[in-house]
Amino acid sequence: MNKSYTLGERKIKVLQGISLSVKPGEFVAIMGPSGSGKSTLLNIIGCLDELDSGSYQLDGMELAGASEPQLARIRNERLGFIFQLFNLVPRIPAIRNVELPLIYAGIDARRRAEMAGQMLERVGLSDRAQHSPSRLSGGQQQRVAIARALVNGPDILIADEPTGSLDSAASAGVMELFLSLNRQGITIVMVTHEQEVASLASRIVRLRDGRLEREELAR
Ligand code: ADP
Ligand code: MG
Repeated sequence: MNKSYTLGERKIKVLQGISLSVKPGEFVAIMGPSGSGKSTLLNIIGCLDELDSGSYQLDGMELAGASEPQLARIRNERLGFIFQLFNLVPRIPAIRNVELPLIYAGIDARRRAEMAGQMLERVGLSDRAQHSPSRLSGGQQQRVAIARALVNGPDILIADEPTGSLDSAASAGVMELFLSLNRQGITIVMVTHEQEVASLASRIVRLRDGRLEREELAR
């Protein structure tokens, strides 16, 4: 696949001839220097951005040129997103943050609270359900974000530098959670610049200047 951005008169080739295939149940880490195109590639995989040329298939379904409603549906039903800065809504309780995707999915209030509560339990934060994000540590906020990403039952987790704002203890907690989710069958595609974090993945893909530099099996 290829992807360029146009800045004024200049066309910047961000991804050039990338070919990547991820199997169900894999845990892939994408590494590379800043500006090498990691987030751009992840956003294309996450249906948040579109490629210019080439092909993107999800379970054999061609998504290059798919309509926005079709992509929105895939994002909602199949994908969960985790970001470096958590992207939680600051002034509402943790449990309401986890419920947000269920509102878009049209689930009633009572069932939403029940599902969000179960999800918070799964990430070990039942006792923080009524806390707003500002009263939670970075590691706890990221676990709320993971609960929110998973509440719709996606089979693919997309994470851009999920431990990039965390200290090493919180980072280890988040990675332990990722490993446990992966063992439960969730496919993970994660960008990181930390070798220690990447080494937990089953495969590491390295980008340089928008090209696939090399791939290696990790664990
Ligand atoms: P990484 O995540 O590896 O740091 P990115 O994928 O964010 O890299 O960016 C790759 C390149 O694309 C950079 O040179 C960046 O400046 C450029 N870029 C990213 N997004 C845009 C955009 N929306 N418009 C123009 N250029 C962009
Ligand atoms: Mg990035």
